[in-house]
Amino acid sequence: MKNKNQRAIKIFLSLLILLFFISGGCSPSSAAARQERVQQEPQERQEQVQPEQQEQVKQEQPQQTGPRFAVIPENPRPGEPVTIAFAGGGRAGNVKAVLVNGQGRIARSDFFDFPSDEGELAFMTAILPVPSTARPGPASVRIENASSVLIAELSLTIMDRKFVSEEIELNQTNTDIRTVPDPQKTAEANQLWAILNSTGTDIYVQDAFTPPVTSTRRTSFFGDRRVYKYSTGKTDTAIHAGIDYGVPKGTPVTACADGKVVLARFRISTGNSVIIEHLPGVYSIYYHMDKIEVNEGDLIESGALLGQSGATGLATGPHLHWEIRVSGENTDPDALVGRPILDKDAILAKLNQVSIF
Ligand SMILES: [Zn+2]
Repeated sequence: MKNKNQRAIKIFLSLLILLFFISGGCSPSSAAARQERVQQEPQERQEQVQPEQQEQVKQEQPQQTGPRFAVIPENPRPGEPVTIAFAGGGRAGNVKAVLVNGQGRIARSDFFDFPSDEGELAFMTAILPVPSTARPGPASVRIENASSVLIAELSLTIMDRKFVSEEIELNQTNTDIRTVPDPQKTAEANQLWAILNSTGTDIYVQDAFTPPVTSTRRTSFFGDRRVYKYSTGKTDTAIHAGIDYGVPKGTPVTACADGKVVLARFRISTGNSVIIEHLPGVYSIYYHMDKIEVNEGDLIESGALLGQSGATGLATGPHLHWEIRVSGENTDPDALVGRPILDKDAILAKLNQVSIF
């Protein structure tokens, strides 16, 4: 009898907490948040099916009441992605993680379902980029529903990081590639952005990534602050989005992880280019190759031959440009080589360690 009453009280408390979330809890305050909410309002009306969510609470085990969250790592450097996990509420596709600091809402990623084994805590996850331009200091991850209503706010600290500054002189041909308007170049840029900003549902890899060439000779680094000196005497600035390996023409280039080839073709500015999708919103990119050995749509394994390096497109000499994008944001490839981005054991350990209730 006593147990029954305790269970009834727990269910009642869980319902109160759920009602707090559904009623909004807190409202987003920035103009960007308001705009996002307005744009996504039609979705909200369809998605907020309250009876179904209440049913979920009833089915939960008493020891798992309340949502749980994990942030790995809690002190990223600019350019290093953060893995966010969320157990005990919401549905993937309707929940997003937003990185907020003094600069505003600087990155966002959608949550996706992580397959769980029987008897294991089910959770969903989001891989959130930390832009290389993020200022060091306190920041937070807002977990929001489709209409930008806050579900939870988690804190993290962005560490300080210095980037290399470099000047690159461009001859007439390379200056033209960067400066002369060309509808084909615009079409290629639009196609690239459409790919990099799309978030699929397939999880092709859970392991750490492997560099695409065996050489460790780097001629440019991730996040380099570049000044391009044009042949016209004018200058322009850019941030280097990946790592350049100074390898001779014809060097084998291999896939850094399992995935699906979503682009394999010549582009004006990046030459023979390959893009592989690895995880929802996570892509690896290989530019300036002499020859491409894969086709769009191919499913490939880590280490598969993608082509041979070269100097096609805007290149001042033979090299391989290797780049990782997470939710459209350029991300430090070394961070994905250093640790598996979806480390299930580490995520479950964190989720089981703490509960905010
Ligand atoms: Zn490069």
